[in-house]
Amino acid sequence: MPERLSRAARSAVMRRIPGRGNRTTEVRLRSALTRAGVRGWRVQPVAIMGKPDFAFLDAKVAIFVDGCFWHGCRTCGLIPQSNPSYWVQKIGRNKERDGQVSAELKMAGWKVVRIWEHDLRNGCQRAVEQVRIATGTRDLDSMAGA
Ligand SMILES: [Zn+2]
Repeated sequence: MPERLSRAARSAVMRRIPGRGNRTTEVRLRSALTRAGVRGWRVQPVAIMGKPDFAFLDAKVAIFVDGCFWHGCRTCGLIPQSNPSYWVQKIGRNKERDGQVSAELKMAGWKVVRIWEHDLRNGCQRAVEQVRIATGTRDLDSMAGA
């Protein structure tokens, strides 16, 4: 049985976690898409399995911005020092769920793009390009605008 953290201990741990949730990175990508003139996406469309952060309903492209901590990014490898087994389990379950969501969406004919939080740390240009490629909206004005 994993040891349970008291509520106070847990929120103390939470406060030390960088980039809790991925609101900031999502917002950053959202404005980068707008600036790049990429259109046709919806924010967190609830009707779509796995609730992607963005989705292009017509092109059937689902975009997930995965927070490095919550989604167990290996590059950043962040596991809190207090009660690591709890977090390893929790993050492991998140990763498992991510894999299932991606697989099910793909089976339903979606393209799935997963962007790491750390990829947006130094600008969104690459992520915007990934989105453009997936949605087939990579066009001349993007090259001119870059
Ligand atoms: Zn990372």
